[in-house]
Amino acid sequence: MVQQTTEEPRSKDDIAAELVTDPTRAIGPSDQGRDAAALNQIVVVGGGAAGLELATKLGDTLGRRGEAVITLVERSRSHLWKPLLHEVAAGSMDVDEHDLDYLAQAHWHHFRYRYGEMIGLDRARKEVIVAPTVDDEGRQITPRRSFRYDTLVIAIGSVVNDFGTPGVKEHAIALDQTQQAARFNRRLVNACIRAHAQEEPVRPGQLDVAIIGAGATGTELSAELHRTTRAVVAYGLDRVDPEKDIHITLIEAADRILPGLPPRISEAAHNLLRNLGVSVRTGARVSEVRANGVQLADGGFIPSELVVWAAGVKGPDVLKELDLELSRSNQLVVLPTLQTTRDPDIFAIGDCAWCPREGHPGQQVPPRAQAAHQQASHLLRQIRRRRPTRPLEPFVYKDFGSLVSFGEYSAVGNLMGFLAGKSMMIEGFFARWMYRSLYKMHERALHGTAWTALSTVARALTRRTDPRVKLH
Ligand SMILES: Cc1cc2nc3c(=O)[nH]c(=O)nc-3n(C[C@H](O)[C@H](O)[C@H](O)COP(=O)(O)OP(=O)(O)OC[C@H]3O[C@@H](n4cnc5c(N)ncnc54)[C@H](O)[C@@H]3O)c2cc1C
Repeated sequence: MVQQTTEEPRSKDDIAAELVTDPTRAIGPSDQGRDAAALNQIVVVGGGAAGLELATKLGDTLGRRGEAVITLVERSRSHLWKPLLHEVAAGSMDVDEHDLDYLAQAHWHHFRYRYGEMIGLDRARKEVIVAPTVDDEGRQITPRRSFRYDTLVIAIGSVVNDFGTPGVKEHAIALDQTQQAARFNRRLVNACIRAHAQEEPVRPGQLDVAIIGAGATGTELSAELHRTTRAVVAYGLDRVDPEKDIHITLIEAADRILPGLPPRISEAAHNLLRNLGVSVRTGARVSEVRANGVQLADGGFIPSELVVWAAGVKGPDVLKELDLELSRSNQLVVLPTLQTTRDPDIFAIGDCAWCPREGHPGQQVPPRAQAAHQQASHLLRQIRRRRPTRPLEPFVYKDFGSLVSFGEYSAVGNLMGFLAGKSMMIEGFFARWMYRSLYKMHERALHGTAWTALSTVARALTRRTDPRVKLH
C-alpha cells in the first residue's frame, strides 16, 4: 500500500531555529501538528527557468531571515536551463558541466527541496499532492506526500503539442526534458557509428534527420546538428561523408520559418540555413510520423532515421486536475497579478501560465525564458508585498527582442527599445553574445555575479582542451 504523509506548517520560532542550525534538515511526518500561528508556507512547484529563480530568491530573503518556509517541489533531481536542450540534443553541450543539483541549491539558498511530481491539489486543505517516486529497480524512494501551502506558485512549464498527429508519440522525439535531449543525442551518435561500421554503403535516408516545427527550437537545432554531425564524423568515422550521407530537413506548416518573428529575421535565418545545406520545407503540413520518416499532407514523404517534433507547446496534462481555469492550450489563466482566476492564493508563472499581455488585447505573454525570468522577479516582489497584505501590482512584460542562435555559425534576431521604441535587427558576433547573455542572467539569478563571472572564465578555458562535441 502506498503510504501518504503530510508536511504540516511549523511555528515561526521553530522555523527560525531550524534554519539557523540546519537550513536543509528534512521535515518529515514527525513534524506534524506544530503551532500554525504566524507561519507562511510558500510552495513553488516546478524548478525551471521561472520556479528555481523564484525559490532561490525567496530563500535568500524570507527563508534566510526565518520569515517563511520556502518549499520547492520538483520531479527532477537536477536543473538544466531548458533553452540549452537543443545543444544537448546536438551534442555540443555537456550536461554535467551545466546542470545544477536541487539539493545543493536548496542548501545554499535556504529553501527546502522536495523530490516528486505534483499530481493534484486539495484546494480545501491547501495541499499539493505529490506522487510517490521509485528507483530504477522499482524500490520506493519517497511515498505519496502532501505539502501544505499558504501561497502556492505553479511553474511546471510546458510540453510539446502534437495536435493529435498520428505517430508522433511513437516515432518522434520531443525536447521537453534533458533525458529526451540526451536520448536523441545517443541515437544520433549510434547511427553515425553504425553507418561507419557496416559493410554496405550508407543507405539513402539512413542518417537523415527531420525536424518538425521551424520556431526557434527547430531552427536552432537544425543549425546546431549540422555542425555537430560533421564534428562527430571528423573524429574518425571516415566511412561517412556528411555532405552526401547526412541530410537535415526542417519542416514548417507556415509559409516562412520563425513565423513568430519579423519577416526579415525569417529571411536572414532561412538564408543562413540554405547556405549550410539544410533543406527547408515551408508550407508543408505533416499528416503522420512513421518509423522510417515523415508523411506530408500533400502526399510527399521525407525518409528519416530520426524525427524531432518541435511544433508548438501546451500546458502539461496535470493542470486539468486542478479545477482552475484553463486556456485553449491548457495553460492556467492568470490575472495581471499572476494569481489564478479562481484562487487568489495560487499563482502561476512561466510557460504553464496564460497571462494577458498589457497593451495587446487578446494576446498572452509569450512562453519564453525572458518572460519566465521577468515573472519570477515580479512575483518575488509581490509575495513580499502580500505578506503585510498590501495590494498586488500587475505584471507588465517587457519584450527585449528575440534572438535565434545558429551555434558557432552565427545568431540573428532583433532587439527592442532601440531608436525610440523601434526594433533593431542584429546578426553575427554581437547577436551571439546577446543570446548568451540571457543564460548568464539566469545563472546570475541562481548563483550571483561573482560565481557567474568565474564559471564563464573557467568554461572558456576548459573548452580549449575538451572535445567540442559529445562522443558517447
Ligand atoms: C530547445 C529549446 C530552446 C529554447 N530556446 C529559447 C530561447 O532561445 N529563448 C527563450 O526565451 N526561450 C527559449 N525556450 C523556451 C524556454 O525554455 C521556456 O519558455 C522556459 O524554460 C519556461 O520556463 P518555465 O519555468 O515555465 O518552465 P521550465 O523551464 O520548463 O521548468 C519547468 C519545471 O517544472 C518541472 N515539472 C514539470 N511538471 C512537474 C510536476 N507535475 N511536478 C513537479 N515538477 C514538474 C520540470 O521538471 C521543470 O524543472 C526554448 C525551449 C526549448 C525546449
